[in-house]
Amino acid sequence: MKIVAKKMFGQNFLIDNNVINNIVKSAKITKNSLVIEIGPGMGALTKLLVKEAKYVLAYEIDYNLVDYLKEEIKANNLTIINQDILKANISEDIKKFNDYDEIIMIGNLPYYITTPIILGLLEKNLKINRYIFMIQDEVAMRLTSKPQTKDYNALSVLIQYKTKASKLFMVKNTSFNPAPKVNSAVIELIPFEYPLKPKNEKLFYQVNRAIFKQRRKTLKNNLKEFNLNNDKINTIYNELHLKEAIRAEELSVDDIINLSDKIGEKND
Ligand code: SAM
Repeated sequence: MKIVAKKMFGQNFLIDNNVINNIVKSAKITKNSLVIEIGPGMGALTKLLVKEAKYVLAYEIDYNLVDYLKEEIKANNLTIINQDILKANISEDIKKFNDYDEIIMIGNLPYYITTPIILGLLEKNLKINRYIFMIQDEVAMRLTSKPQTKDYNALSVLIQYKTKASKLFMVKNTSFNPAPKVNSAVIELIPFEYPLKPKNEKLFYQVNRAIFKQRRKTLKNNLKEFNLNNDKINTIYNELHLKEAIRAEELSVDDIINLSDKIGEKND
């Protein structure tokens, strides 16, 4: 079956065996792991994953590739779901598997939706032991960016709230076919318990997304979707000692948690 890479699905297939081996090795898979792969493509990683893991569950949006993979990889521990990962019900899908020690999520992510994929997955609160993702190098550098920097955004806040993030290694664009314009990096995200807990985690996620929606606007402007009246807004600003013209990028993770707690109280 001849496969032509589709740009609209961010298809850049890995062709460098060293890189493929290094990504799989960094996932530290055992015979008792359940591996969830996002975007298996032509199976560059999948072929190794089925050898290392107990089960592999893969989500691929492109049905041509699903057909190709089913022909190409004959492994009885591989399940491929033809679905957009953004719409997948992962917690339901993994109920079919049992007797595994850990869940590892892995993916050479389609770059056009890296941020929604990672934000969506982390907000789902799945019991994942570690995430190994290939993303654009430029995005990898932003993951641990701090307040007051131009790269600080909803993704960096959520990553720092949910995980310990590290960049494992860089991957040149020539390791792919077709070669993307930019270099890539493999990152590891290890979930951990952030010391400060929001009272309502869902609301914290919602506030985090909302306040960075329009970066150039003030925090107050971006809070409009919560329909808080002026008195409520003023009380929140006073209690949290926020300046009138403050923007989201000046708030630490703790500040955003405190803000969501206050919004929650004010909505009661
Ligand atoms: N894993 C393969 C590799 O390393 O060669 C392919 C990686 S390619 C960068 C990204 C893959 O994700 C493609 O196979 C693409 O079709 C798939 N994809 C794109 N958008 C997706 C989505 N929303 N849900 C699931 N898969 C998606």
